Amino acid sequence: MKHLSALNKYFWKYRVRFLVGILFVVASNYFGVLAPEITGYVVNAVQQHLPGAKATATAAGSYNSVVRYFIGWVEKMDFGKLVVLCSLTILVLALLRGLFMFMMRQTLIVMSRHIEYDMKNAVYAHYQQLDAGFFKTHRTGDLMNRIAEDVSRVRMYTGPAIMYFVNLASLIIMCLVNMFRKDISLSLLVLSPLPLLAITIYFVNTAIHRKSEKVQASLSDLTTNAQESYSGIRVIKSFVQEKAMLGFFKQNSEEYRKNAVGLAKVEAIYFPSMTLMVGLSTLLTIFIGGNMALADPQKIGLIVEFVIYINMLSFPVTAIGSVASMIQRAAASQKRLNEFLDTRPTVVNAATAVKNNNVSGDIVFKNVSFTYEHTGIKALNHFDLTIKRGEKVLILGKTGSGKSTVAQLLLRFFDPQQGTITIGHTDIRNIDLASLRNKISYVPQDIFLFSDTVANNIAFGLDKQPGRDDIQQAATNAAIHGEILTLENGYDTMVGERGVTLSGGQKQRISIARALIKDPEVMIFDDCLSAVDAKTENQIINNLYHTLGNKTAILITHRIFTVFSFDQVIIIDEGGILEKGTHEELLALNGYYAELYQLQTSQEVEE
Ligand code: ADP
Ligand code: MG
Repeated sequence: MKHLSALNKYFWKYRVRFLVGILFVVASNYFGVLAPEITGYVVNAVQQHLPGAKATATAAGSYNSVVRYFIGWVEKMDFGKLVVLCSLTILVLALLRGLFMFMMRQTLIVMSRHIEYDMKNAVYAHYQQLDAGFFKTHRTGDLMNRIAEDVSRVRMYTGPAIMYFVNLASLIIMCLVNMFRKDISLSLLVLSPLPLLAITIYFVNTAIHRKSEKVQASLSDLTTNAQESYSGIRVIKSFVQEKAMLGFFKQNSEEYRKNAVGLAKVEAIYFPSMTLMVGLSTLLTIFIGGNMALADPQKIGLIVEFVIYINMLSFPVTAIGSVASMIQRAAASQKRLNEFLDTRPTVVNAATAVKNNNVSGDIVFKNVSFTYEHTGIKALNHFDLTIKRGEKVLILGKTGSGKSTVAQLLLRFFDPQQGTITIGHTDIRNIDLASLRNKISYVPQDIFLFSDTVANNIAFGLDKQPGRDDIQQAATNAAIHGEILTLENGYDTMVGERGVTLSGGQKQRISIARALIKDPEVMIFDDCLSAVDAKTENQIINNLYHTLGNKTAILITHRIFTVFSFDQVIIIDEGGILEKGTHEELLALNGYYAELYQLQTSQEVEE
C-alpha cells in the first residue's frame, strides 16, 4: 500500500471531484436501503389486511426515522391508496439510487481518467529527461509497458477500486445497521455465509489473474513470433526455414491454448460458486424466517426485507475480493512506476548552467577517458583533441575504435568519467543542455525517421515550421531532392514505420538534410554516408564544402575523402589518437592513413 501513497497528490489535485463522488456513492446507497424497509412495511400492511388477521401495532421504533415519518403519513390513508403510494415511493427510490449511481460514475471514473492522463504525461516527460545510458539498459517493450499497462492498472485503483470500495463499505454498513436494528440473531445467522463468499472470491480472483497473466505472456510470445516471421520473411525463405518457423509457432500456439483453457476452467468456477453462496444466504433467511413467521405472522414483512438485503449485499461482497486483487495489482504497478520516476538522469543540467552560451567552434577534449558503465567497455582512453572554430575535421578509425563515442560525449549523451570537454573555453557541463544541443547538428550513425512526411522529418529539429523552400534547399544540399520528387507525394510522402520503404542511402540523406536545415554552429556527421554510392558521396561532400562555410564540422567515416582538404585528420584507435595531421602530413608519415589511402586509391582505379 505504501507505493500507492505516491498517488495521493493526484487525489488532492482532484479533491473536489473526489469528495463529491464519495457523497454520491453514499447518497445512492442511502436511497437504496430505504426501499427494503418500505417493502417490509407494505408486506406487513397487506398481511394485516387479510381476512382473519389480528391487528397489531407496527413496531415503528425499528424503522429508519425518514421511513417512520413516511409511515406516519401513509398510515392514515385508506388501504388501496397506501399500497399505491408505497409502490410509487419504492419506484422513486430506485430512480434516485440509479441517478446517484450515474453521477458517482461520472465523477469518480472521470477523475480516474484525469489521473491516468496526468500520469501518462508524467511518465512520458520523465522518459524524455532520462539519458542515453538508461535507454541502453532497458528494453523497449519494458518501457512501453510502463506507459500503457502499469498506468492503466493504477487507474483501476484510482477509479473502480476506490468507487467499489466506498460503495460496498457504505452499503454494507447501512444494510447491517438496518438489519441489526430489526433482529440481531437473524442477521448474524443469515450473514454467516457471506465472509466465506468474500474469501472464496478473493482466491478465485487471484487465480484468475495469475492465469490471465500467463495467457497474456504467451500471447505476447506468439505475437512476437508472428511479427518476426513477417519482418524476417526474406531471411526465412532464403534459408528455407519455413518449416522450422512453423514449428516454433505451433509450439507457442500450443502454450497459449493450454493457458487459455486453464483460465477458462477457473473462470467457470467463479459464477457458480458466487451464486451458490448468495443462494445459501437467501435459503437460510427463508428457512429460519419462515419458521419465525409461522409463530408470528407479523414477521413476514421482516423476512421479505431481509431477503432484499441479502440480495443487495451479494454484489458488494463479491466485489471485496476483486477490489482487493485490483489494489494489489495497482500497488505492484505503482511500485514499478515509482522506481522508474525516481531514476535520476546521470547527465543533468547544472544549477549554474549558462543558457545560450556562445557555443562556437572551439572544441577541446582534454585527457578524456570514458567507459560505458553497464558493459565496462573503455571507449576513450586519455583522449585529446583540439578543434578551432571553423575547422573541418575528419575522424577515421576502425569499427569500435571510439569515433561515435567522441560525438556522443560532445552532445552530452554521457559524461566522461575523467577529463574535460570544453566549447569556447566553457566546460560543457556548465552549458545549458538545450542550448548546447541546439547549437550542434548531429547526424547519428543509426539514422531514424519518424512515421511522418519527408518534409516534417527534415524540419524535425526546428521550433518554427520552415518554408518549403528551406526544406528543398536542405534536401538539395544533401543530394536527395531529386529522389524525393520521384516519390508518389513528393515531400508529403509518409516515411518511417508506416510509410514508403526508402533505401538506407535515402534515409541517410534525409537525416543529413534534417541536420543541415538546423543551421547550427557545429556539425557532426557520424558515418552517415556508408550506404551512399561513391558518386553521390562526392556530390554531398562537395555541397557540404560550399554550405558549411565557416562552420565547424566533424566528419566521422571509415574512408578517406579527398574532395576537399580537411584542416585536421585524426586517426583513432582503441580510444586514443593514433595519428593526426593534414592529409599531406599523414601521407608523409607513411602510417595507417597512408596505407588506407593507397588501398583506397588502388580500389578506385579498379572500379
Ligand atoms: P566506432 O564509432 O568507432 O565504431 P564506438 O564509439 O561506437 O566506435 O564504440 C567504441 C567502443 O565502445 C566499442 O567497443 C563499442 O562496442 C563500445 N560501445 C559503443 N557504444 C556503446 C554503448 N552504448 N554501450 C556499451 N558499449 C558501447
Ligand atoms: Mg560509430
